[in-house]
Amino acid sequence: MLLIHNGLVLTCNDKDQVIPGGAVLLKEDKILAVGSSEELSGRYPGAEKIDARGRVVMPGLINAHMHLYSTFARGMDLKTSEPPADFLEILEKLWWRLDNSLVEPKDIYYSALYAIIEGIQNGTTTIFDHHASFGLIDGSLDIIQEAALRAGIRASLCFESSDRHGKEASRAALEENVNFIEDIKPEEKSYLQGMFGLHASFTLEDSTLKEIGRLAAALEVPCHLHVAEGRADVRDSQRRGYENIGERLDRFDIWQPDTLAIHGVHLSREEYRMLADRDCLLVNNPESNMSNAVGAADLPAAAETGLALALGTDGYTTDMFESLKVAALLPAHQAEDPRLGGELARQMLFETNGKLASRAFGKKLGSLEAGAGADVIIVDYQAPTPLTSDNYFYHILMGMSGSRVDTTIARGELLMENREVKILDHGKFTEECQRQAESFWQRF
Ligand SMILES: [Zn+2]
Repeated sequence: MLLIHNGLVLTCNDKDQVIPGGAVLLKEDKILAVGSSEELSGRYPGAEKIDARGRVVMPGLINAHMHLYSTFARGMDLKTSEPPADFLEILEKLWWRLDNSLVEPKDIYYSALYAIIEGIQNGTTTIFDHHASFGLIDGSLDIIQEAALRAGIRASLCFESSDRHGKEASRAALEENVNFIEDIKPEEKSYLQGMFGLHASFTLEDSTLKEIGRLAAALEVPCHLHVAEGRADVRDSQRRGYENIGERLDRFDIWQPDTLAIHGVHLSREEYRMLADRDCLLVNNPESNMSNAVGAADLPAAAETGLALALGTDGYTTDMFESLKVAALLPAHQAEDPRLGGELARQMLFETNGKLASRAFGKKLGSLEAGAGADVIIVDYQAPTPLTSDNYFYHILMGMSGSRVDTTIARGELLMENREVKILDHGKFTEECQRQAESFWQRF
């Protein structure tokens, strides 16, 4: 048993309970109790202890949309005469070339493990990843699985099906999803899950969508796909004779319950309502949208339809605190209305992401309460003003960042303590990662 005591505990539970001088008791992958330090220390004198005095204890963070394969793009020369001028060119000149150049298992492994570890350093303990490596399709999800298991986090994985690299690659991508999902063992399902991955409507033919809808329903898994990220996606569905993307994907049963619709920047109110009716989630990635200059989703309109809004990073960052900050700013900035943003951002990260992960892994996550999964972080934060159940979110928003996380526990295991990564020799690993990245850059 491990007792984290003397901390300021932000439970993020249904009542947003805050416990000064609080404690969290863990046993393997389970929170046994949350309460006052005095009481829990008295009841469990033999437990191993972490003293969180002067620091904040809160649930491990959940990233609802990530691309672990994007690591080697950091600082990379695109080797083009003209930089990408719009979103489609960003895909063509960067991402589609990058994923086609991932040919060595080590490319995928180091990209994934680096980003997972950086996530751990920023307090992220659960990742919903969306993978592409058309240079190496078969077995690629097993490589990411290996990285996730080595690190000790929870991961939901998928391969982005697409017809953009031809029929054979498309078929292989579908098979990779099926094989990975079918191979997950029942005892692994509290930390390893699969979804059916699709790139986006505009790179998928009707016949492929039909096959994916059939397979996802047969496997009883949700889909994970980009939707209306750029206007090209919207125009493509109309060119094919559909009213909009929502209708096209609905025709092929892609809107399974719990399906993650990523971005939805250019969806209409009617499409948001359709997604809400199908029990799908819209995942917002504000920094990525701003970086790709694709616009911003009308999140207040989406929320009004009852659509659940979640928060991811889309590979732009591994720091959910950073994504939260921008998620709170962008809607207010866009609508020139300072009332928007804060509450929506809070709901995304501290309500919906938790619900999403709890359903996916069959275990309460995103909350410190008895019976929940043992994912806990300790943040080096001393509040300059009173911190209560009513205002704790604004302390997180304005005062915390990933670099202030000093201890990360996932599935009951200490992955980082006092900023020291415990999983592996971090210095040595980073050197190996750089060597692999250099080799990759030469091949790009
Ligand atoms: Zn994405």
